[in-house]
Amino acid sequence: MTTSVDPDLSPIYGDSPTFRMARQQLDAVAEATDLDAGVLDRLSVPKRAMIVSIPVRMDKGGVKVFTGYRVQHSLTSGPSKGGLRYNPSVDLGEVVALAMWMSWKCGIMNLPFGGAKGGISCDPAVLSLGEKERLTRRFTDEVLSIIGPRQDVMAPDMGTDEQTMAWIYDTYSMRVGYACPEIVTGKPVEVGGCIGRREATGRGVTYCIMEALAELNLRPHESTAVVQGFGNVGSVTCQELHQRGLKIIAIGDRYGSIRNLKGIDIPALAKHVATGKLVKDFPGAEPIAADELLTTPCTVLVPAALERVITAENAGKLACRVLAEGANGPTTVEADAILSRSDIFVIPDVLCNAGGVTVSYFEWVQDIQQLMWSESMVNDKLKELMLRAFHQVLKLSRDRKLPMRTAALILGVEKVAREKMIRGLYP
Ligand code: GLU
Repeated sequence: MTTSVDPDLSPIYGDSPTFRMARQQLDAVAEATDLDAGVLDRLSVPKRAMIVSIPVRMDKGGVKVFTGYRVQHSLTSGPSKGGLRYNPSVDLGEVVALAMWMSWKCGIMNLPFGGAKGGISCDPAVLSLGEKERLTRRFTDEVLSIIGPRQDVMAPDMGTDEQTMAWIYDTYSMRVGYACPEIVTGKPVEVGGCIGRREATGRGVTYCIMEALAELNLRPHESTAVVQGFGNVGSVTCQELHQRGLKIIAIGDRYGSIRNLKGIDIPALAKHVATGKLVKDFPGAEPIAADELLTTPCTVLVPAALERVITAENAGKLACRVLAEGANGPTTVEADAILSRSDIFVIPDVLCNAGGVTVSYFEWVQDIQQLMWSESMVNDKLKELMLRAFHQVLKLSRDRKLPMRTAALILGVEKVAREKMIRGLYP
């Protein structure tokens, strides 16, 4: 069975390859399960999508108008939840796909949230702090009618950070007339953020990798890793893997890639980057071409940057034993077909990078209850939930001889579908 909702939908979502990919994944789940046809149709499109124009006064004078999006894929399980992305590639189709993936991610982790995502098409690297603040505050104001601590809760994503969340928190609180920290997660700890939220995605990726190595009887001290991206997810993953004895032999980002087969000194690289320098200029490694990064032989490959980087062209050339998807949607459907014929152990994005939204959930709960958890409580609970989800996915994959991705998506989609069936259709 596939959904009867027009798979093209190009008049609405543009010709978005990311949206198409999310829909193909949902169709694969439908084929492997006996989902109710009506529920499947409802899950194949977002519940609500808002497009706003955001006029911003620029530092050099004049006004520039940006386009922003907030998409709520599902509100069935609780408030919708998901990040806000600032990147030039942002368009409606991409945001819808990312919102859909958030629904499955929250389902797999059994969190009381639906999926959402937002984004503004802009290049944050060329915006001043003041311009970013004005952009963020005006965007918050424009989407105010559809967000709320019980409706839709934003968090950081690519190009946004704790400061962005603090501006959203402040703007929302000024408009409603009281401090409402539970409107966003991923805030600075001083204003109700959760200790360990910034590191949570990378830690969750690491817990999954360590579990996969154990399943495959591979020793961490004899294992190597290659990481694409040295942002919030990639850098923390490198540090956590390094602490557990893995050798990180290559790292790359959009400015360039480096390799050192003896192992890159991760604490030294973190210091180098903290002083504003680029990964590619790190003296302790050799530069390599961008297309060599993902195909470097290693035990664990971690794409932790953009979507659709593992494609039909390079999937057959991957030389890793474990593919741990720190990014959202790094592997295309065509690449997936190639990987499923290989012996690569895939830890799919909706499981692998779910640590971020899991600690976001902890933050939201703490803000509502007005109490604070300790760092060890956050990390212990994160590990417990990540490992439980990892083993549920692995078991389903083994029991039904399905790829890990299909198993993960089935768990996520079925949870949302079940809740929709029980709640029924209004009116
Ligand atoms: N942006 C992150 C993600 O893609 C986190 C979302 C959240 O914490 O709500 O999972």
